Amino acid sequence: MSTDKKKAHFDTVNLHSDRRDKPEHGALHRATHTSIAFEYDDARELAAVFQGKRPGYNYARQQNPTVNALQKRVTQMEQGSATVAFATGMAAIGSIFFSLLRAGDHVVSSAFLFGNTNSLFNTFRNLGVDVSFVDATDAANVAEAITDRTKLVFVETIANPVTQVADLQKIGELCAQKQLIYVVDNTITTPSLFSPKSVGASFVVNSLSKYFGGHGDALGGAVTDTGLYDWAQYPNIFDNYKTGDSHSWGLTQIKKKGLRDFGATLAPEAAHTLALGSETLSLRVERACANALALAQFCEAHPRVRSVNYPGLPSHPQHQRATDLFKQFGALMSIELHEEIDCFDFLNQLEFVVSSSNLGDTRTLAIPVAHTIFYEMGAERRASMGIPDSLIRIAVGIENIDDLIADFSQALA
Ligand SMILES: *Cc1c(COP(=O)(O)O)cnc(C)c1O
Repeated sequence: MSTDKKKAHFDTVNLHSDRRDKPEHGALHRATHTSIAFEYDDARELAAVFQGKRPGYNYARQQNPTVNALQKRVTQMEQGSATVAFATGMAAIGSIFFSLLRAGDHVVSSAFLFGNTNSLFNTFRNLGVDVSFVDATDAANVAEAITDRTKLVFVETIANPVTQVADLQKIGELCAQKQLIYVVDNTITTPSLFSPKSVGASFVVNSLSKYFGGHGDALGGAVTDTGLYDWAQYPNIFDNYKTGDSHSWGLTQIKKKGLRDFGATLAPEAAHTLALGSETLSLRVERACANALALAQFCEAHPRVRSVNYPGLPSHPQHQRATDLFKQFGALMSIELHEEIDCFDFLNQLEFVVSSSNLGDTRTLAIPVAHTIFYEMGAERRASMGIPDSLIRIAVGIENIDDLIADFSQALA
C-alpha cells in the first residue's frame, strides 16, 4: 500500500483532495468563500493577477477558492490537466460551443442526446454553426458526416433514455486522425465508471448536478481538459490566449469566454455541496448500478414488460462494448410496458419510485419521457432517437433492491 498521492486510488485521492492544499486552520473541508473581490496590499500584485503573470483571485465571476477546490477534484477524478466549473451542465456544454466555434463551422453530434443539449445545438444552428446528428453507435456514421468545415465531435457515453453506447474508442481514433475536438459527456457514467481520456477525448463534460453531487440538491457542471488536444493549429484561438503550452489554450479561452464574458459561474455554496457529495461518488454509483442491473433483469423476465433498455443486459445491442469500456453499466434504464398498461397508471401505482425528472439522485426516479423531457422536440425527432410514447425512464437510486423489486412487482400486478 502506497501513500504516494500519484499511486493512490480514485476514492483515496478524492477524499484527501481538499486537505492536500492545506486549508485555513487545518480544516478538513474547504471553506465556502463568498467574497466577490479580493484585496492586495501591493497594487502591483493586483495588476500582475489581472495580467495572468501570477496566480490569484480578482473577481469571483472568474475564480473563487471554493470553486477552484472543486475543479481540482474533478481534474483528479478525470485524470485531466485542468477543469473549469460552471453553474450547470448546460452552461458547460454551451460555453464550449460559444467559446471555440464560429459561424461557418460544423459539428458532428450523436443523435442520441440529452433533450436540452439537442435543443441547445439547434440554437447554435441559428447562429451559423451547423450541426449534423448521426447514429454514433457506429463510428462510420461520424466519419461520413465529417466535412472540411468540421471542428468538433460531441457524444454522450450512455445516451439518455434509450441507453445507446457510442462507439467511443473508434470515434476517438477518428478525431485524433482528423485533428477534431472530441467532447465526451460523461454524466451518465461518471469518472468512477469510465475515463473518456482513455478513448482520446479532448474535453470531458460532467453535469455535477447528477451522480457527482448525487443528492439532487445542487446544480453544477464542469469541462475537464484532458490535455490531449494541441491548439497550435486550431484557427479559432484569440491571440491573447496563445500563451504557455499550446495544449492549454482551448480551456483558457473557454474560461475567459464562458465565465468572464458570459458569466455562467458556479456559486461557491453549490461548489461546496457538490464537493461534499462527490466524496461518496463511487459508493453510490456502485450500489445504484448493482440495483439497476437487478431491476433490469427482473423487468426483462416480467411478462407485462415489453422491452428493457439497459447496457448490462446481454440483449442490449452494445452490451459487449459497454462490458469492455465501463466498470459497471450505469444506473439509467428505460422500459416499455405491454399496451394494456397505461404508463401513467403504472407510475402512479409505484410507492417508493418517485415520478420526477432528475437522475443521479439517491432515490429512484421515473418519468414518461415522450410526454415530458422530450416533449418539446416533437414526434418526428423522438422517433429518430428511438423514443416511443410509452417509454418510461428509470433513474435507479440506492434503496434496498428487494424493496425496489417488490414495488415494481406490485405496480405491474
Ligand atoms: C443533466 C444532463 C446535462 C445537463 O446538466 P444540468 O446540470 O442539468 O444543466 C447534460 N448532459 C447529460 C447527459 C445530462 O444528464
